[in-house]
Amino acid sequence: MSRSLDQFVSQKLDALEAQSLRRRLVETDRFSDVEVRRNGRTLISFCCNDYLNLSHHPDVIAAANAATTRYGTGSGASRLVTGNHPLFTVLEARLAKLKQAEDCVIFGSGYLANLGIIPSLIGPNDLILADELSHSCLLMGTKLSDATAHIFRHNDLAHVEEILKAHRASAKNCLIVTDGVFSMDGDLAPVAELAALAEKYDAWLMTDDAHGIGVVGEGRGSSFMGDTKANVPLQMGTLSKAIGSYGGYLCASKAVCDFIRTRARTLIYSTGLTPAAVAAAIAALDVIEADPAFARRPVEQAQSFTRALNLPLATSPIVPLILGDADLTLKASALLEAEGFLVTAIRPPTVPAGTARLRFTFTAQHKATDIARLAALVRDKILPRKAAE
Ligand SMILES: *Cc1c(COP(=O)(O)O)cnc(C)c1O
Repeated sequence: MSRSLDQFVSQKLDALEAQSLRRRLVETDRFSDVEVRRNGRTLISFCCNDYLNLSHHPDVIAAANAATTRYGTGSGASRLVTGNHPLFTVLEARLAKLKQAEDCVIFGSGYLANLGIIPSLIGPNDLILADELSHSCLLMGTKLSDATAHIFRHNDLAHVEEILKAHRASAKNCLIVTDGVFSMDGDLAPVAELAALAEKYDAWLMTDDAHGIGVVGEGRGSSFMGDTKANVPLQMGTLSKAIGSYGGYLCASKAVCDFIRTRARTLIYSTGLTPAAVAAAIAALDVIEADPAFARRPVEQAQSFTRALNLPLATSPIVPLILGDADLTLKASALLEAEGFLVTAIRPPTVPAGTARLRFTFTAQHKATDIARLAALVRDKILPRKAAE
């Protein structure tokens, strides 16, 4: 035991506690599509990213079980050694087809994907532009690349162009990164417009579609929200949200994917995903592709909630209610929990200071009556408190 080490972390924790910013893991038994058990109580969860409830779908579970029986529980090594079980080839082909890309590479997680992809493509003489609300792993990938990074104002195309005008010419290569669907705000990036700017300035556009695949663009994600597919050469995402499994992916040209397989450290030096995780993702894609209307359900559910509260109409399954103060947000979350709803408080540094919020996520299998009761509670018990702040 090191006394100075424990002293150091204890002081840090005390300071966070004083600002209502200490985090705790709470044991959560997600035993059905939308219900969880916590502290001995059953709650309806409005904070899972399992938008299509596929993690509990019988076909998806059966596929995971069959893969475990056939190939074992672990993949045994990095994909480049012996961890590349046959299911990877199937899933990569399926994702490439869904995203209308030439090829696809699967990573251990979405976070690992971004830490691997960005520094492989971009280096110290290059330029990265990132939306200010980009997910942590896009920003960490940016940091690892050692490129000159410029953060642009959220969804502000004029700011993107201003930065490109001023700095593009002096850099060798240039990457623009953004969430396709913003994880904590639920709004959409102007993907087609960013693609046009990228083309104009010879920049490479990368979208992180963690919250897009399975739920927007008929389940194909944020490149497919317009009449034609947006030209996004780097479509990245995760298998751990609407796909109901675990893992990350990049859909891109064959040349890019070949290069990433050769160079991305988080792919090369990390063990391949378990057969069960890959098989579950394939089965989930079967469900999504069989019924595009099903993929629209989470957004429709979110819209019924925003309509009930006269909030701006939801464009994704994510609806933020920004309360500002972290303590107020924790209390609002506790109030909903007492009423049988699980809605986690999201606090800085996950979101900018002063924008603590309840983040509601809606899934295909939520009941209309539960959504209506949740909306009524928010209207009667939480919005008045916010107004009184
Ligand atoms: C969740 C998330 C990730 C990380 O994906 P994991 O597979 O959970 O590691 C990356 N980007 C965004 C925008 C996310 O919301």
